[in-house]
Amino acid sequence: MALRRPLVHEIAKDTYLINEFGLVNAYVLVGSERSLLIDAGMGYCDLRAIVESLTEKPYDVAITHAHPDHAGMMHQFERVYLNEKEKASLPWAARLDFDLDEFVRNNRLHVGNWEVWEVTEDMINRGSLDTEILPLDEGDVFDLGNRRVTAHSLPGHAPGHIYFIDDGARIAFTGDCCNYNSGTRYAASTFIRDLQRLLDGYGKTYDRIFTGHTTYCGTLDVKSHDIRIVRYLIEAFRSLLRGDAVFGERVFQLFPERPPVKCLLYGPVVQYPHENRSGPMVCPTFNADMLWEEGEPHIVP
Ligand SMILES: [Zn+2]
Repeated sequence: MALRRPLVHEIAKDTYLINEFGLVNAYVLVGSERSLLIDAGMGYCDLRAIVESLTEKPYDVAITHAHPDHAGMMHQFERVYLNEKEKASLPWAARLDFDLDEFVRNNRLHVGNWEVWEVTEDMINRGSLDTEILPLDEGDVFDLGNRRVTAHSLPGHAPGHIYFIDDGARIAFTGDCCNYNSGTRYAASTFIRDLQRLLDGYGKTYDRIFTGHTTYCGTLDVKSHDIRIVRYLIEAFRSLLRGDAVFGERVFQLFPERPPVKCLLYGPVVQYPHENRSGPMVCPTFNADMLWEEGEPHIVP
């Protein structure tokens, strides 16, 4: 019998990770006055019912970025906070004509065809509310009473990507802005500075990172994300600016039928158990034609 319900883990006091069948995480932060849901999953469960089983407080919903695995169930909620620059992706990210193929494709991406999950058509629930989009910007604070959650901007994986720092659990909830699937199509110099700002907070405003996905590379766990990934990404994009980056080719496992894409190779050699290989990390998301902001002096940050 395979798993048919999302896994819910308490990762800190009053702080819950909801893992949707290995695909993606959403987080519920329960405060003394209000609660906060970070991200709205993919679409294979009643996320709203899970949230309301974890908190009786009024709650807000804030979305890191408008991709289908993070905004997928936003129409289960009356209103969500989302950065303006993400709105254009919503017709794709939260569309209602959604089926099990998405699960199979994304399962292949995130956990490598694991068969611990049993997801069926009847579990699909993207909601149908006419959801109001509220603005979400750098510096916005969700005051939950005994804890405050601050929004920070880190474009790259998506143009209006936001991450959150919770001063209660001292956790950074980083969505997809600094995990093994991160990079930027925008200026590398800005990406480096934004990552450095995140790194500078480590040990000062937060001690642990939880990303949008805890099952990359075939591990099913709820460990804090390795802070070194932020340093590796900074170094990778610095090498791109310096002109000594190492490139490789890679078949994107989400689309194995497509030709291999050019990737930035970086970091130490690591194991990829579900792909049965080892090697450096690969970043297919970079733009060699947009290394600097317009008019910016070419000094590697
Ligand atoms: Zn994601």
